[in-house]
Amino acid sequence: MIGGGQGAYIGNIHRLASRLDGAWQLVAGAFDVDPERGRDFAIAEGLDPARSYGSYQDLIAGEAPRADRVDAVAICTPNFTHYPIAKALIEAGFDVICEKPLTATLEDAVALEKLARESGRFVGVTYTYSGYPMVHEARVRVAKGEIGAIRTVQVEYPLEWMATAIEQQGNAQAAWRTDPKKNGRGGSIGDIGTHAYHLAGFVSGLKLQALTADLATFVPGRALDDNAHVMMRYEGGARGLLWSSQVALGNSNGVRLRVFGETGSLSWFQEQPNELILAPLDGRVQTIKRGADDLSEDAKLRIRTPPGHPEGYLEAFANLYAGFAEAIRARTEGRVPSALGQNLPVAYDGLKGVAFVEAVVDSAEAADQPWITPIAV
Ligand code: NAD
Repeated sequence: MIGGGQGAYIGNIHRLASRLDGAWQLVAGAFDVDPERGRDFAIAEGLDPARSYGSYQDLIAGEAPRADRVDAVAICTPNFTHYPIAKALIEAGFDVICEKPLTATLEDAVALEKLARESGRFVGVTYTYSGYPMVHEARVRVAKGEIGAIRTVQVEYPLEWMATAIEQQGNAQAAWRTDPKKNGRGGSIGDIGTHAYHLAGFVSGLKLQALTADLATFVPGRALDDNAHVMMRYEGGARGLLWSSQVALGNSNGVRLRVFGETGSLSWFQEQPNELILAPLDGRVQTIKRGADDLSEDAKLRIRTPPGHPEGYLEAFANLYAGFAEAIRARTEGRVPSALGQNLPVAYDGLKGVAFVEAVVDSAEAADQPWITPIAV
């Protein structure tokens, strides 16, 4: 693992989730931008001091010649570091699990996706919400035509934690997220809008044709948007509306997706992740529970506990890790991955996210907020 050291947010979620199924073992790391703090952290985590590195360059130099070199490296650092770290790892022959957004700039995303494709290395991207079993259930039901042709997709990711200028009061996570050089051009739209955009496309299967966007910065002194509204037109005529906000009081992590078709709709809310609401044309609204007998195989194989025993964020993240392990194993063994190793977010999905952000900011910055087609959809 690179990043995710003392006081970091997402690194610990990766450590917990990767261990859940026993497919991964954390054996080496460069956990901190400060080499000494990173090594101390690694040793405190119980890692071999010889594999507790001060920098990602040292990790590559130390691991590359080992017979038991790491199988893959998780990148849990701020956005602007993803590209140089991933590039160096891929060039040294390592598979990569990279946090979203894939990179801070479109140029880097294009280069990284190309490098991943041409090298044959696996690059998984942790779009967390595509790990939930009931999100897979929604995807399967849409693909089966259960709600008919899609008319509109409404997706939102409201958060409240940046409703005041916490970046000016020593909050490390908010500080780099509001710095365009470290975060990228899109504030809320890059940080969480990319999750929403991926989720909408993952479940609906729709391909974006063009978008127009309105960005706002509500907190005085903030350099990037903290609220975004995006209208989308999908190929085939469906419409979409995406809202991301870091200043939406009352929302701890309110990811919500609603897909409306000709014969029904499906709704999923991240804070009630074990349920999917199906509203068919006849008005008999159903709550489909995780654990229902007739769930799809794609959902069932991502469930660990019996009905009524809640699963959530860590399990969803673990499903991504289990899928990444299966995809890498299958490649090594020269076979097609099982269903667990399919429908995973990979480098191209990461590129699509960054291209989406670029198009959103371009549209919002132009005087007439034009409709723009991202370079990867
Ligand atoms: P953070 O600021 O809490 O932690 C970043 C960590 O990276 C720190 O430990 C820091 O010391 C380390 N670091 C920075 N540069 C480094 C370098 N060159 N070498 C080694 N370590 C380095 O950040 P965070 O909130 O955990 O976010 C990290 C990444 O995860 C971001 O890309 C963010 O968008 C993403 N993220 C994803 C999700 C999700 O749901 N998938 C949730 C939160 C964050």
